[in-house]
Amino acid sequence: MAYQITDECISCGACESECPVSAISAGDDKYVIDADACLDCGACAGVCPVGAPSAE
Ligand code: SF4
Ligand code: SF4
Repeated sequence: MAYQITDECISCGACESECPVSAISAGDDKYVIDADACLDCGACAGVCPVGAPSAE
């Protein structure tokens, strides 16, 4: 199961460079995770100031 970024995202961009497989990119109104590439490592959740990346 991949991480997903919830609507809490404030598009700060902090998570993008933390992802080891570059699965995160800027979307229209929030950042988004490519579910097929995500390794479930949790690095994005660790740096997000608002806890937007969720494994749920
Ligand atoms: Fe990238 Fe890891 Fe976040 Fe998945 S959980 S998007 S692999 S940083
Ligand atoms: Fe959005 Fe959090 Fe990533 Fe910033 S670190 S772009 S708030 S998911």
